[in-house]
Amino acid sequence: MVLFWSWVLVTLLAISDLLLATPNTTACADTCASLSHILGEKVVFPGTSNFTQSIGTYYSAQEAELTPSCVVLPSSAEDVSLFIKKLSSVNRAGYDPGYPSCPFAIKGGGHAPSTGAANINRGITLHLGALRQVSLNSDKSVISLGGGSHWGDAYDVLTPLGLSVAGGRNGDVGVAGLLTGGGISFFTARTGFSCDNVKNFEVVLADGSIVSANAKMNRGLWKALRGGSNNFGVVVRFDIPTFPQSNYLGGSVTFLVSSFEAQINAFTNLTAAEVFDPYMSVILTFFWSPQYGFLISNNLAHTSSNSSTSNPPASIQPFLNIQPQLFSTMRTSNVSDFINELTQSGAPLDGLRNSYATTTFQANASFMTEIFHFWNSTMAALTTLPSLASAGMTFEPIPTAITSKSERLGGNSLGLDARDGNLVLLQISLTWTSAADDKTMMMASEKLNNRIDAAAKSWGVFNRWKYLNYAAPYQEVIEGYGTISKSHLRAMSKVYDPLGFFQKVVPGGFKLFT
Ligand SMILES: Cc1cc2nc3c(=O)[nH]c(=O)nc-3n(C[C@H](O)[C@H](O)[C@H](O)COP(=O)(O)OP(=O)(O)OC[C@H]3O[C@@H](n4cnc5c(N)ncnc54)[C@H](O)[C@@H]3O)c2cc1C
Repeated sequence: MVLFWSWVLVTLLAISDLLLATPNTTACADTCASLSHILGEKVVFPGTSNFTQSIGTYYSAQEAELTPSCVVLPSSAEDVSLFIKKLSSVNRAGYDPGYPSCPFAIKGGGHAPSTGAANINRGITLHLGALRQVSLNSDKSVISLGGGSHWGDAYDVLTPLGLSVAGGRNGDVGVAGLLTGGGISFFTARTGFSCDNVKNFEVVLADGSIVSANAKMNRGLWKALRGGSNNFGVVVRFDIPTFPQSNYLGGSVTFLVSSFEAQINAFTNLTAAEVFDPYMSVILTFFWSPQYGFLISNNLAHTSSNSSTSNPPASIQPFLNIQPQLFSTMRTSNVSDFINELTQSGAPLDGLRNSYATTTFQANASFMTEIFHFWNSTMAALTTLPSLASAGMTFEPIPTAITSKSERLGGNSLGLDARDGNLVLLQISLTWTSAADDKTMMMASEKLNNRIDAAAKSWGVFNRWKYLNYAAPYQEVIEGYGTISKSHLRAMSKVYDPLGFFQKVVPGGFKLFT
C-alpha cells in the first residue's frame, strides 16, 4: 500500500513538473511588456518584421516554428544584465509556486538543429544577433567576438590580414554555440578544440553581474565554459588568439560509393598514425541526395604554407590517389574561400527539418566498414520517404594530437585526453521537408546510433564522448564527459548559479543535473 501511494505521489509530482515546465503565457506577456519599458525597441513581438526576421534565421525548421511571447535583442552586456535581472525576479526559485513561470532560450547563431535548443514556445528568446562586434587588439594577436557573431564575421576581418582562428568551417554558424560546445576547425590538430583557445569569456551570470573568466580570474568557470554550453550564463564576448595563416591546399572531392574501402583505409591510417600530421583536416562523408543517390565526399585540407596542388603533402596523397574522382574543388586558396565553399554547398539545406546524432569510437577500419553496412540498411528504408532531402554519415579524426592539447591550454569540460587513444567522431545527419516524417527520421537516426554504440562496445572500441554540438536531444552529453568533468561542472554551477537559474529557467540544450 505504501508503495502504491509513493507511486501515486511520484506520478503526480512528475505531472506537475511537466505542467510547471510549460511557460505561463500571462507571466511571459507581462514580462515582455515590462522588458519593453526597460529595453524599448529591443523587445520585439509576434507580427512585427523584426520578430519575423529573428525567427527566420534558425538553421532548422523545428527551431524556426517555435513562437516565443517576445524576442529580446540586446546590444550590450548591460542590456543582457538588465534582462537577466528581470527574468530572475520574475522566476523566483523557492518562492514562486509556478517556478519557472517564464523560461527563456538563448540564441547565438541559431545553428543547433534540435527543437528548443535556442528558441522556445510561449517563453522569451534572448537573441544575441546585435552583439556581433569584431575587434582586434593592437598587435592583432587576439580577436574579440560578440556573443551573437558568426564565424564568417571573424574570417572576413582576419583573412585579408593573413591571419586566422580555430573557428567553425561554415561562416553562418554561431561563434557562441560552437565555442561553448567544443569546436572543430580546419586547424584542430594544430590548435586543439576551438574552446581550448578561448583566452577570456565575458559572461553575464544568473545574478546579472558581468564577469570575465580567464586563466587569472574565475579560472574554474573559464574551464567549465569550454564545453559547458548555456549552463553558466550568457556569454557576451569571446577573446581568442589569432595566428598567421597563408594560403593552403584544400577542397572537396566526390567519389563513387564503391570506393568506400579505400576511403576507410586512408582515413584510419591517417587517424591512427603514430604521429598525426598537425596540418591535416579531413571530413569524410557518406551521403545520399535525391539528385545523386549514394556518393562519398571528402573535404580535405593541408593547412601548411608549402602545400599546393602541384606539391601535395604525403598525408593528403592517399585520399587524392583514390579514383575515379567525379568532382574535385582541390585548389590552393585562403581560409575565407574554403569557408565560403562549405557555407554555400550546405545552403540548400538551411531552413529544412534537421536532425543530428553522434558517437565516438577508437579508429578501426573493420569497425568502420561494419558501420557503413549499418548505414546502408537504415538508408534502404529512409530513401523510400519522398520528404528525405539529404542524409549524411560523417567521420572526423580526433587523434591524441588534439585531445592531448587541452590541459596545457587550461583544460576544458569535454573529458577527453590522450588516454582515450586515437578517436573517430561520427555524425549522423538527416534533412527532410515534411513534419509528418519527424518521428520516423528521428527514430531511424536514434536506432542507427544505438546500433553503432552497441557494436562499438562488442568490438571493444566504444568511447563515451558524445560531442555536444552534434548531439541529439536524447543523448547524455554531460554523462559522456565522465565523472570528473561532470563533478567540476556541477560544482561550478553551485558556485556561480547557486539557485540553478540556468538549469531551470533556460530549459534548452544539455543540462547538468538531469
Ligand atoms: C551547417 C553547420 C555547420 C557546422 N559546422 C561546424 C564545424 O565546422 N565545427 C563544429 O565544431 N561544429 C559545427 N557545427 C555544429 C555547431 O557548432 C553547433 O550547431 C553550434 O551549437 C552552433 O552554434 P550557434 O551559436 O549557431 O547555435 P545556437 O542554436 O544559437 O546555440 C546553440 C546552443 O548554445 C547556446 N548559446 C548560444 N549562444 C550562447 C551564448 N552567447 N551564451 C551561452 N549560451 C549560448 C544556446 O542556448 C544553445 O543551447 C555546424 C552546424 C551546422 C548546422
